Amino acid sequence: MDFRLTPRQAELKAQARRLADFMERYEAECEENNGLPVSAHESVRDAVLDSGLQAINMPAEWGGAGLTILEQAVVQEELGRLTGALWDMVWRPANALRFCTPQQRERYLIPVIKGERRDCYAVTEPGAGSDPQSVATTATRVADGWRIDGEKWFVTMGDHADFIIVLAAAGEEKAPTLFLVDKEAPGVEMKRVPRFMHTFVYEHPEFTFTDVRVTDDAILGGLGQGYDITRSWFTEERLMIAARTIGAAERALESARDWAVGREQFGRPIAEFQLVQGMLADCAVDIAVNRAYTHQVAWEVTEGTTDRKTLHAKAAMAKLAASEASGRVVDRCVQIFGGRGYDRSYPVERLYRELRVDRIWEGTSEIQRLIIAGELTKRGTGVLNLPGAVG
Ligand SMILES: Cc1cc2nc3c(=O)[nH]c(=O)nc-3n(C[C@H](O)[C@H](O)[C@H](O)COP(=O)(O)OP(=O)(O)OC[C@H]3O[C@@H](n4cnc5c(N)ncnc54)[C@H](O)[C@@H]3O)c2cc1C
Repeated sequence: MDFRLTPRQAELKAQARRLADFMERYEAECEENNGLPVSAHESVRDAVLDSGLQAINMPAEWGGAGLTILEQAVVQEELGRLTGALWDMVWRPANALRFCTPQQRERYLIPVIKGERRDCYAVTEPGAGSDPQSVATTATRVADGWRIDGEKWFVTMGDHADFIIVLAAAGEEKAPTLFLVDKEAPGVEMKRVPRFMHTFVYEHPEFTFTDVRVTDDAILGGLGQGYDITRSWFTEERLMIAARTIGAAERALESARDWAVGREQFGRPIAEFQLVQGMLADCAVDIAVNRAYTHQVAWEVTEGTTDRKTLHAKAAMAKLAASEASGRVVDRCVQIFGGRGYDRSYPVERLYRELRVDRIWEGTSEIQRLIIAGELTKRGTGVLNLPGAVG
């Protein structure tokens, strides 16, 4: 076993850290104004292109950075340090767009990779959350294509995106299918834009689709493939969440450690009090063990030798463990900062609010537990094995 980062991984980590450090200047403004002006978006876009970290999940021949899953995790860990979800400004097109036909690729994917357009992914509905198979949005066959009707909620970056990847039940057989829908298409309406607990550089609006007409070439990845395509990327998406939450927790601990060493009460630095030391130590343990496991699973995905079902369960374990552990870390760090930890101008306060959603989206903690338990009961405890282990 060799746990060292390769020179390439170390360079990517440093590059991502430089980008995160540059973007940090926009955090306070984002928090204050619930978003950023066009000029800031443009300057970050230029910085992302300069860093070479655009579309890290897309092949180099299409203009992406073409990173392995482990390399992506290393990058996401650094970007996860940013508050205001500024990490989302470093665009990673939806993996589903890999299923574009050559024509769709030119129109949708390539401009997203170049940073000229943005996509958003609309699966969730008022009545379909953890159970996306119950989507009520329909695509009905009409003479020259399809008519889409329905409602989608929580569409991250729906305010900023140019087009929406919409999951709908198509035809009489209600085949789950993804459609590429331009946001400007007649019948697409952005309705409510709720305020959420976190401050996020983009919004998560609700959309209605009323008699929206698309042609056959709007279908992404084939009729009836929508659910399978969405599911097939859960492993990667969940590992990226694990990586980002670890990066966030690490930043919180760094600042809480520095604060504890410098802040004096009762004539001594608070870091000398054992109750504070206990919190610092527990944070370090939560971060270290979760980083090691996330890297292990990302490495297994990169190696390609572990079977898909096992990887799916392992990614669920990484997401569940890292998002919950990071939540504990920021909670303790807020405590170490005392009243200042409750002040929005302190990054720990923002991270405290922002990490909460990582236990909800891309499958709630309960859904991750169901996946892990399902694997254990149906296939045994092999999911615990290290690659190469017998049995
Ligand atoms: C900020 C934000 C951004 C989002 N971005 C997007 C996006 O871009 N695109 C998109 O499509 N969706 C997005 N989502 C939606 C997100 O994926 C869903 O909120 C999530 O999947 C949970 O669905 P739900 O909210 O309907 O909760 P529900 O499914 O109603 O769950 C409510 C509670 O019941 C529990 N529960 C449900 N089923 C079970 C079960 N079988 N066993 C045990 N417990 C269960 C859940 O764990 C949860 O605790 C976003 C959500 C948020 C908050």
